[in-house]
Amino acid sequence: MQRIVIVGGGLAGFEAARALRTLNFTGEIVMLAAEDEPPYDRPPLSKDVLAWREVTVHFDMTAVADVDLRVGTAASGLEQGAVLTDAGSIECDGVVIATGSTPIALPGTSTLRTLADAHRLRDSLEMGAEIVIVGAGWIGAEVAYAAAENGCSVTVYEAADSPLSAALPPDLGMRTAQWYEQLGIDLRLGERVDDVTALGADVVLAGLGARPATSFLGSSGIELRPQDGAVVVDSRLRSSLPGVVAVGDCAAWWSTRYDTRLRVEHWDTALHAPAVAAAALLAGDDADSRVDPYDPVPYFWSDQFGHTIQYVGHRGASDRRVDRCEEADWAVGWFRDSDVGPQLTALAVVDRPRDLTQARRLMTAATPIDPEKFADASNAIKTCTLA
Ligand SMILES: Cc1cc2nc3c(=O)[nH]c(=O)nc-3n(C[C@H](O)[C@H](O)[C@H](O)COP(=O)(O)OP(=O)(O)OC[C@H]3O[C@@H](n4cnc5c(N)ncnc54)[C@H](O)[C@@H]3O)c2cc1C
Repeated sequence: MQRIVIVGGGLAGFEAARALRTLNFTGEIVMLAAEDEPPYDRPPLSKDVLAWREVTVHFDMTAVADVDLRVGTAASGLEQGAVLTDAGSIECDGVVIATGSTPIALPGTSTLRTLADAHRLRDSLEMGAEIVIVGAGWIGAEVAYAAAENGCSVTVYEAADSPLSAALPPDLGMRTAQWYEQLGIDLRLGERVDDVTALGADVVLAGLGARPATSFLGSSGIELRPQDGAVVVDSRLRSSLPGVVAVGDCAAWWSTRYDTRLRVEHWDTALHAPAVAAAALLAGDDADSRVDPYDPVPYFWSDQFGHTIQYVGHRGASDRRVDRCEEADWAVGWFRDSDVGPQLTALAVVDRPRDLTQARRLMTAATPIDPEKFADASNAIKTCTLA
């Protein structure tokens, strides 16, 4: 291969460039980044940047040799052997799509996705400012916390009956409602907002989730998932077009572990999937025999209200829930029976990082776990195995 174009200058794009060089790709790497910024990390935006903490968000591009980074340059299309931009087409032998996702907005609201968004929002979180947040999901919760800490008057509208409803059952989501109350945040559950003009706030932020940023692929012929437009990729992150892989928030991959297609819009996926995608791209027709599938136990975290929520795994509707403890720091697991015994399919914890680390290791190895021992929080999870 002579030239590979990476479309997208976020974490997944950066890691793809790093992986290509680690795998001794000596050809040209062109990275197209729609923003006027070199690649940077997003989790600190809603945590450190809004809290005025000095942090380095940009990745160290000098750690990856010889990348032709073109900031402020968006891909506008893709065709066989070329990526299209407004400045002309770029011929290439391979493409990595790493365009992330675009937040869902309501008219009259702002969103938080980019460094520029974070700086704008931070500047408006002044003492006494009226801030309305639509959506009590991960971003909504983190911004509500930052706004309250900055002395703003904060109201959060959530259409569901509990916070974090997309990820957690209602009773677990409701355990976070007290955190809002403790900071004097007005959390309005079951209240849907369609028109923000009547709200009269200084800032209205939409925290309504995000969709894969794949509209530029419309006429490329690449297979996109009908329900959300994610690039459909196989277990080695290969798309329906030869020589084109996709990683990070924009991709829905086939999970051999869970026998289903997954799109996980979280940091850990953008960090680890690119190594597999880069190897598959370089291996070409030999990828099936030379490259192991990308088959993680998905993981993400959120820092909010002085607590860390972590979630690992992928649970099914019929998995059996087992509560490990219901203190201020809690853990809840979900189990499914398998040929070798009960397996933990997912674990949600608040401020119990050791539980998370130990469970993640056992889940990755598919080690059976005794649910009764697991339920007793005095047992370290690593001692609950049935092997
Ligand atoms: C505020 C915030 C806080 C977060 N906190 C957490 C957290 O605590 N824990 C966690 O697990 N995850 C968190 N996430 C999610 C995590 O940051 C994302 O999953 C991760 O950034 C995805 O990386 P990516 O490279 O796939 O996409 P992105 O980081 O979105 O990068 C994609 C880049 O591609 C560019 N692009 C888009 N279209 C084009 C185009 N046509 N041409 C060229 N470039 C294009 C975009 O402008 C963008 O810069 C957070 C996200 C945000 C926004």
